[in-house]
Amino acid sequence: MSTTSFESLQWSRRFLDETPGEEQVGGRPRQVPNVCWSRVHPSPAPSPALRLWSEDMGLQLGLEPGHETVLSGSGAVEGMDPYSQRYGGHQFGHWAGQLGDGRAITLGEVGTDGGVVELQLKGAGATPYSRTADGKAVLRSSIREFLCSEAMHHLGVPTTRALSLVTTGEVVVRDVLYNGNPAPEPGAVVCRVAPSFLRFGSFQIHAALGDRDTLATLVKHAVRHHFPDHCVDDDDGRIAWLDCIAEDTAMMIAHWNRVGFVHGVMNTDNMSIHGLTIDYGPYGWLEDYNPNWTPNTTDASRRRYRYGQQHQIGAWNVARLLESIGPLMEDPERLHEVLKTYYAAYEKHNNRMWGEKIGLDEFRASDAQLVEELVALLQRVETDMTIFFRLLSSLEEPKIEHLSTAFYDGAEYPEEEWNAWLSRWWQRTEGEPNHERMRLANPKYVLRNWMAQLAIEAAENEDYSVAERLYDLLKKPYDEQPEFEDEWFKKRPEWARHKVGCSMLSCSS
Ligand code: AMP
Ligand code: MG
Repeated sequence: MSTTSFESLQWSRRFLDETPGEEQVGGRPRQVPNVCWSRVHPSPAPSPALRLWSEDMGLQLGLEPGHETVLSGSGAVEGMDPYSQRYGGHQFGHWAGQLGDGRAITLGEVGTDGGVVELQLKGAGATPYSRTADGKAVLRSSIREFLCSEAMHHLGVPTTRALSLVTTGEVVVRDVLYNGNPAPEPGAVVCRVAPSFLRFGSFQIHAALGDRDTLATLVKHAVRHHFPDHCVDDDDGRIAWLDCIAEDTAMMIAHWNRVGFVHGVMNTDNMSIHGLTIDYGPYGWLEDYNPNWTPNTTDASRRRYRYGQQHQIGAWNVARLLESIGPLMEDPERLHEVLKTYYAAYEKHNNRMWGEKIGLDEFRASDAQLVEELVALLQRVETDMTIFFRLLSSLEEPKIEHLSTAFYDGAEYPEEEWNAWLSRWWQRTEGEPNHERMRLANPKYVLRNWMAQLAIEAAENEDYSVAERLYDLLKKPYDEQPEFEDEWFKKRPEWARHKVGCSMLSCSS
């Protein structure tokens, strides 16, 4: 495809034209009632430099690497009409009122061969929704967002995408652990891409404040463009539309569990209506298989968003979305049907994925026990999830000794019980687990927290080669890539066990 400039992209403004917004540009953080968006101008960056670029996204948009002026928020082109979205949300189980895009600014919507997408800068300055913060983002969190959203895409997990990472040349001050130690860090902006950045909270805010008209307008807009097979003129139609969101959300969370991803902040403002993983903050990847693990220090005591509870939280969040559509329903009681859809969809996808992970051609009800036993055994001693399932994917005889590198050093694993489980599994698969299927469900490489940390530390010293190499690796997570094995196919090194950025992450970004 020929090089396109930002000017010649097919800009459109469906959201701006079809939903109410605030025409005034920018202004101090404040409550902005009865609107879906506020017009804003990104803050210019003193010396923007392009550091990471997604070839794949670039190709879809017809863009060659570059454009750091636009992608840092330092220049507008004809067709753009930047805005921030207004939304609310439940944070850690409590209604938080108006939140909105405090550090995200949408440049506009752009037509591509694959449909219309929204281009959004994260970290390009304050908006009316920035509350007490600065609207900026630091290099550390931007690298984590860029690499992880692209890695998730290549893993086949529904996600928003990243086009670029640009450093701004500006220093941003952050107190990483909220313990009174603010420090300067390099600023950066990621340009992310999605069909839309509408969240559950986008609907909640209007329902919560009793603005039925804006709620109805937003629903109509969202369905017209993003769920074109649906019609929400009556309760049947509304239920069918919500069923679709519930299904997509359930499938996304089943995928998270398949690959060992923990989102970390499943607040309803971080739940996409497209069932896409969105808002990469203090997320993490399971190293040892521990369902109680969460990377988010803010959630360390209650562990609301721990790995093993993500699907329950998904249901809780869907329930909040349903409540927000209540004012549009003739019979709101019917909304309960959608929760049933959610649970049924989760079970269906989760079972299918377990079947793939252990190489069954078909998951039967009686296989649930085999999986349950496996999950219990994986927790007996510290066992690396990714390595375990990857080695299992090419196991030639049912003996645990061939999987021993998955166990942490010095861990005395229950050998007999493991061998007993492996034999039951072997019998179930008639000695022929579907290895090919397994290798497509059990990635060899995921973005372990310490891997991202190594990329960040190098980048903070102006060396982007580690990030580049990781990005290359993670484009083919299911391929063997033997040249990368020694460096990246391994358990968490000891230095990373209790390190900030690896085992402990905060929302400070
Ligand atoms: P999160 O949970 O990280 O998605 O963010 C929750 C809310 O805080 C959203 O409304 C964000 O826009 C806002 N927020 C987070 N970081 C910043 C920041 N640096 N500046 C302004 N707003 C922020
Ligand atoms: Mg968010």
